[in-house]
Amino acid sequence: MNHKEALLKKAKELEVEFIHLQFTDILGVMKNVSITIEQLEKALDNEIMFDGSSIDGFVRIEESDMYLAPDLSTFIVLPWTDSPREARLICNVYKTDGTPFHGCPRNALKKVVKEALDMGYTINIGPECEFFLFHTDEKGEPSLQTHDNAGYFDLAPVDLGGNARKDMTMTLKQMGFEIEASHHEVAPGQHEIDFKYADALVTADRIMTFKMVVRIIAQRHGLHATFMPKPKFGINGSGMHINMSLETMDGKNAFYDDKDKLKLSKVAYHFLAGVLKQAKGFAAVTNPTVNSYKRLIPGYEAPVLIAWSASNRSPLVRIPAKRGNSTRIELRNPDPSANPYLALAAVLKSGIDGIKNEIDPPKPVDSNVYDMDELEMKEKGIEGLPANLYEAVKMLSTNEVVKEALGQHIFKKLTGAALYEWNEYSKDVSQWEINRYLRKY
Ligand code: GLN
Ligand code: MG
Ligand code: MG
Ligand code: MG
Repeated sequence: MNHKEALLKKAKELEVEFIHLQFTDILGVMKNVSITIEQLEKALDNEIMFDGSSIDGFVRIEESDMYLAPDLSTFIVLPWTDSPREARLICNVYKTDGTPFHGCPRNALKKVVKEALDMGYTINIGPECEFFLFHTDEKGEPSLQTHDNAGYFDLAPVDLGGNARKDMTMTLKQMGFEIEASHHEVAPGQHEIDFKYADALVTADRIMTFKMVVRIIAQRHGLHATFMPKPKFGINGSGMHINMSLETMDGKNAFYDDKDKLKLSKVAYHFLAGVLKQAKGFAAVTNPTVNSYKRLIPGYEAPVLIAWSASNRSPLVRIPAKRGNSTRIELRNPDPSANPYLALAAVLKSGIDGIKNEIDPPKPVDSNVYDMDELEMKEKGIEGLPANLYEAVKMLSTNEVVKEALGQHIFKKLTGAALYEWNEYSKDVSQWEINRYLRKY
């Protein structure tokens, strides 16, 4: 029996009635076409077509027919469905001529993963997704009211989101996630659930699945889950730290070297240097919203400066204490509004470029960089991340490494969408301005 036949058999045995064919648009929003079990064979033969012109950032009307090619390894029954039972398959997007569509974020990440593989490495990624749980009002609309007053690692009864979080964890486990930690975060109503690292493509798929599960289960508890980076001024925002390592074909961690002072290999230093070098360029991808830059300010455990440290948590990159097979590099600027396929493609391409060009990193900074003034930054040659989305788009536009990771099509659509967003935002007169100027002038 081949893979296709085995999957058809499994779906029938599990009494699945509906299958959601999922893919992600350029802005990181999950899209979905549902089919009945009778159509599954056709879907597995890549014969399900859709109109690409209706998807954000895809194509013009003249060239709109697209095909979905399901990745068979992503078949999962959705545990919250019962009768009828539903499953999902994540798809790659193809053009009518059978070639991969350049606007498909999953295809972009696959290309970078392949580049690493050609160099002899599998890329392992462990994400840390943070999010807020807010109350909904009588009409079911989300509010900014948190349901608790708990803080970092607090327990019930202060942590009333604990039940929802437990439910999310159980659901994710049923879907094959290995949950390593789940805890209340620093801000009231803020949570984090960490799942085990896996190769980059699997992890990007899981981040999309994770967000879907968290939203659905929150709703079932009468709460609204948001991955908006900074929903409230004055408290921590939500990050999506990315832990990265490379694995050689014989299963060794290529970032570990017993003989080095910090026990990091040459490959690890080059990768780190590549990431730091392109950080200004990939910010528009890892931090793609106007709101993203309101998180990247001093004082809230989010990075502002392009520096690295083996201990301090304020710089962009930290090297967590674990060594040996757990040696990894933690990138701290990405936030959960990012498209995970594109964010990983951009960051990993930067690291790979560092290895290929044998770039050396600057000296580590072990003091709290929040306390660093302009002069000290200049002396140490440390630069800041882009201050806002507009600056980030400008930096991306001149960054050839990140542009190559995205491809011309995605680069154009992504920057176009970001500039539109920036213009809309710039025209708005905010409450802050009213409070500040209405009486004064
Ligand atoms: N919420 C912080 C951020 O924005 C991270 C806090 C933490 O994980 N220690 O990145
Ligand atoms: Mg964490
Ligand atoms: Mg955290
Ligand atoms: Mg972390």
